[in-house]
Amino acid sequence: MSVIAFIELGNNKVKKSSFEVASYVSATAKKMGLPAIGIALGSADAAALEALGAYGLEKVVHVNDAALDNFDAKVFAQVLCEAATSVEAQVLVFSHNYSGKGLAPRVAARMKAGLVAGATDLPETDGKQFMVNKTAFSNKGFAKIAINTPVKVVSLSPNSYGSHKGEGTASVEAAAIAVPAASVTVKEKVQLSDKIPLTEADLVVSAGRGLRGPENWGMIEDLADELGAATACSRAVSDVDWRPHHEHVGQTGITISPNLYIAVAISGAIQHLAGVSSSKTIVVINKDPEAPFFKAADYGIVGDAFDVVPKLLTAIKDLRASAN
Ligand SMILES: Cc1cc2nc3c(=O)[nH]c(=O)nc-3n(C[C@H](O)[C@H](O)[C@H](O)COP(=O)(O)OP(=O)(O)OC[C@H]3O[C@@H](n4cnc5c(N)ncnc54)[C@H](O)[C@@H]3O)c2cc1C
Repeated sequence: MSVIAFIELGNNKVKKSSFEVASYVSATAKKMGLPAIGIALGSADAAALEALGAYGLEKVVHVNDAALDNFDAKVFAQVLCEAATSVEAQVLVFSHNYSGKGLAPRVAARMKAGLVAGATDLPETDGKQFMVNKTAFSNKGFAKIAINTPVKVVSLSPNSYGSHKGEGTASVEAAAIAVPAASVTVKEKVQLSDKIPLTEADLVVSAGRGLRGPENWGMIEDLADELGAATACSRAVSDVDWRPHHEHVGQTGITISPNLYIAVAISGAIQHLAGVSSSKTIVVINKDPEAPFFKAADYGIVGDAFDVVPKLLTAIKDLRASAN
């Protein structure tokens, strides 16, 4: 039996979210006295997979087929289940991101497994129980769920456990699994920008309707560039096309958990908070001291964004210059 990490690939590399999943699986496997194994689908450099040993995986089963380079939840679920069965998977862990949200329930249904979506902690595995904490009601509460099926599926909230890098090299085992025909045809791939994708970003600078118009986003982009951050926005902003929809975070947009979320001129409506409140550190800049976002903030600046953001940018540049 084994504990499995689903390893996401992109451009032949391992995606950042998978380092956290590998670390989580390694710790879970230790608790359960089982081997920690990764399963990777699609093209990848062998060295990139071997490097997962530093995150605690003993072995990576690699279905190295270019037909798996485009994500297709149905196809991935089928191939993954076959690979997982070959290593007697007892627990399968995904990141609770786009692909994980699509895959985990499909895999759970195929393997007749109980699923906890959006886990926040390592499972409690004492005795016969397997219990996992997760957030509930748009991060307003916690639930502890017991999975009673022989196979268990968990999707892990990004940034809830963290990546823990040590030393080691994983062995890579090629698995020859027939890939079923894709249910979608990819005709064209368009890279939206050469910037850091929002879901992978450690730092995010986000802005809302208080900026009054798309022409005022220059200072937000400058701040993001200086910090090496991705940009995001509230729904009010993407609904009126000031910013593209793929930047919209919240209940009906993307859920993110960066290390730092800077919210500029965003009120902090509950639907917005639902997508960002698990960020490690939240900084709010708002001219209204009563703005609800301040209640969720670690640091708050009451002030006009058009005054504060340029000053913040200058201060960061000065700090960098003095450090060099
Ligand atoms: C079913 C449903 C789902 C939703 N899903 C989402 C979602 O996923 N994501 C989301 O974001 N919203 C969502 N919403 C909308 C949400 O309720 C809010 O309307 C929206 O988040 C408001 O966006 P905002 O904070 O940018 O704008 P506003 O509410 O207009 O707030 C603007 C803020 O900027 C401040 N401000 C103004 N000028 C300045 C200045 N010069 N300097 C500093 N601060 C300034 C104001 O004090 C205010 O706090 C949803 C709503 C519903 C009903």
